[in-house]
Amino acid sequence: MEEKDTIKNTDTETGSKEQGETDKKDEYEKICYICRRPESKAGAMITVPGGLCVCRDCMQKTFDSVMNGGLDFSQIANMPYLNLNLNNLNQNTPRVEIPKKQQIKKKKAESQAPAFELKDIPAPHKIRGKLDEYVIGQEQAKKVISVAVYNHYKRVFTKGQTEESQEEDVQIEKSNILLIGPTGSGKTYMVKTLAKLLDVPLAIADATALTEAGYIGDDIESVVSKLLAAADNDVEKAERGIIFIDEIDKIAKKKNTNARDVSGESVQQELLKLLEGSRVEVPVGSNQKNALTPMATVNTDNILFICGGAFPDLEDIIRERLRKKTSMGFQAELKDRYQDDPDILRYVTNADLRTFGMIPEFLGRLPIVVTFQSLTKDMMVEILRRPRNAILKQYIKLLALDEVKLVFEEEALDWVAEEALKRETGARALRAIIEEFMLDIMYEVPKDPGIGTVVITRGYLDKSGGPRIEMRG
Ligand code: ADP
Repeated sequence: MEEKDTIKNTDTETGSKEQGETDKKDEYEKICYICRRPESKAGAMITVPGGLCVCRDCMQKTFDSVMNGGLDFSQIANMPYLNLNLNNLNQNTPRVEIPKKQQIKKKKAESQAPAFELKDIPAPHKIRGKLDEYVIGQEQAKKVISVAVYNHYKRVFTKGQTEESQEEDVQIEKSNILLIGPTGSGKTYMVKTLAKLLDVPLAIADATALTEAGYIGDDIESVVSKLLAAADNDVEKAERGIIFIDEIDKIAKKKNTNARDVSGESVQQELLKLLEGSRVEVPVGSNQKNALTPMATVNTDNILFICGGAFPDLEDIIRERLRKKTSMGFQAELKDRYQDDPDILRYVTNADLRTFGMIPEFLGRLPIVVTFQSLTKDMMVEILRRPRNAILKQYIKLLALDEVKLVFEEEALDWVAEEALKRETGARALRAIIEEFMLDIMYEVPKDPGIGTVVITRGYLDKSGGPRIEMRG
């Protein structure tokens, strides 16, 4: 009797567990196991035991072939999702599942509250305030980006409204952004922070991997595929996300070449339609299009595209232009000033970028150009200690768990910043340098419970001395 009760209990438990799973499944679209189209495209599905779905078209084709002389399932048994034993489909048979990463979230019903409204987007000064907590310096860039992003989402929002009221209103144009600045100056970091604070999905792609469709390398659409994955295959969420394409300077037109430029100019050409806004078919959960990958349609109209690059040699192009201009007139004395200006990038014009090898149509779709400054020694020191998750704060926290106080002398921080400047990889060098000398501290300090304070001195870093250790009590 007791045994029976137990069985009954487990039954109900499994029941509710299954119910939960069914509810979860309801969030995802059914996908036809033959043609791989989701139900939003192929229409209602016929579901057979084992969780297998077939769309009407494919079912009809199957009937047609049966009528035309039969259908031999064994011939298609090598299709992974059809390779199941139909005689053995009871509850204990594992269900045929589409891999999780290839499942597509269903569109929200019209009656449901919109997932996103303008009030969810913070005003520019708030966006900037948040960026300030993480990103050091780059004041102008923060300001321009905060406004651009706010305007972008305003456009997304008003567009939804005008479509509803069918009004012919002023059209706000898309404000994709181009970030130009030395490596390690915080371009990617700024975009990442932005996506986090706006709570929108972000995909980071590398322009060097992209090639014209049909050539070895990633298709242009792969960047949208990445965004869809970042949005948990929720098309609507992806459609208001951000795509960051890094190393955009690497797709400049190749100079002095007669060969087809499949990874340069052609990539710029193909990116045009994405940047402007178009509907693209992208494979879900894979970067390959083939018969077994479900495809989703994503409209890139409301996706904010941010392109970034270091644009080496651009400084020379700008200097050259300024030099020509100034050497002609009374401004000749300015010539030398430009020569030594470390932030010459801020004078960049569209013409300079064209000389660099970007095509005018491409630049036309990135109307907002933002330049980043090279980091100075003072900025490096600030990056070490000020941002919310500053690297020094992390080490201080780690040692505080051992009840040890960690102190960095001012001169020591100066040394780290100077060393980082020498490596010419921007703030990226800071972590590497700190990790090098913190390794011994992190290894040795926990050995001796008497240690109360560790002071990192300049002498310890330039190897002319050691850290200052103070004992407890
Ligand atoms: P890039 O400009 O080449 O995209 P990143 O944004 O990837 O450079 O910067 C590398 C790392 O350096 C970031 O992860 C961040 O921790 C740090 N960093 C760079 N610039 C700044 C900055 N201005 N403020 C704070 N941290 C920065």
